[in-house]
Amino acid sequence: MANSPRNIRSQRLFLRAPLAGGAQVPLDRAQTNYLVNVLRVRAGAEVRVFNGRDGEWQATLLEESRRSFRLDMVKLIRSQPPPADLHYLFVPIRQARLDYMVEKAVEMGVTRLRPVLSQHGQVSRLNTDRMEAHAIEAAEQCGVLAIPEVDAARPLAAVIDDWSKEDAGRRIVFCDEQHGGSDPLAVLAGVQPAPLALLVGPEGGFSDEERRVLREQSFVTALPLGPRILRADTAGVAALALIQAVLGDWRGSVRNVGEPVEKEDMIS
Ligand code: SAH
Repeated sequence: MANSPRNIRSQRLFLRAPLAGGAQVPLDRAQTNYLVNVLRVRAGAEVRVFNGRDGEWQATLLEESRRSFRLDMVKLIRSQPPPADLHYLFVPIRQARLDYMVEKAVEMGVTRLRPVLSQHGQVSRLNTDRMEAHAIEAAEQCGVLAIPEVDAARPLAAVIDDWSKEDAGRRIVFCDEQHGGSDPLAVLAGVQPAPLALLVGPEGGFSDEERRVLREQSFVTALPLGPRILRADTAGVAALALIQAVLGDWRGSVRNVGEPVEKEDMIS
C-alpha cells in the first residue's frame, strides 16, 4: 500500500540543504529516483525531511517540469534535539554483515562509527561511502534527526595510544568473551556517567596481546555478554541494548529525540 496516506506521511528523507519555512529544495537525480521510483511518492504528497541541524520538516513534493522535482518546506514538526553521544568502535567484517551492523548501530543510537583494524580482522578495504549511505538510510527509517559520523579506519593500537589525547574522559566498554564474569548489568551499573565508546572485536576475536593492552587501560571497562560466543554484529546489538538500558536513552528520564511542535504531529 505504497500510496496510502499513512505510508506517505511516514516517508522521511535526509537533505543537506538548509531547511526553513518557505525553503524550496531541488532534488538531485538520486533523491528523485529514491522518492519517486523507489518509494513511489507522487507530486503533491507530503514527505518528512531533516538535515541534521534544523529539525524535522513537513514538505510537499512538487514536479517543476518533467522528471524535475523539488520539496517545499511547509512547517516544522519536530525541533532539533540536543546531540546524542555514543561512539561505536568495531573491526570491519564482511560486507553483508557490515551493512547490518551499521544499520543496527544507528537504530540503537550510535552517533559516530569508528572502524578499527586489529590483528585478526579479515577485511582491510573498507567502503566508508557505503557505510555512510547505510547510516543515512537507517536514520531516515528510525527517525533519528542527526546523521552519524563515519570515520576512516585506524589501527586499534594507534586509537588506544591516542585515547587520552583525542578522547579524554570517554570510557571504552569493551566486549570481552574471555571476561569470566557473568553479569553485564552489574558491570555497567559500576560505570560512572561519562561519554562512552563501545568496542566489539572481529569474527576471529582480539589477539591475546590486544586483550592484555585493552585490559590494562584505566579508561577501558570489559563487558561479558553471556556464556555463548556471539557474532560481532550480534554482540554489538546486545551490548548497545544493555548500554542504552543502564546508562543511555532507554531510561525514561532521557528524551533526546526532539520535541514535537504540535501534538498531533507526533509519530504514532
Ligand atoms: N574469539 C572468538 C570470536 C569472537 S566473536 C572465537 O572464539 O572465535 C566477535 C566479538 O564479539 C568479540 O571480539 C567480542 O568483542 C564480541 N563477543 C562475542 N561473544 C561475546 C561474549 N560472550 N561476551 C563478550 N563479548 C563477546
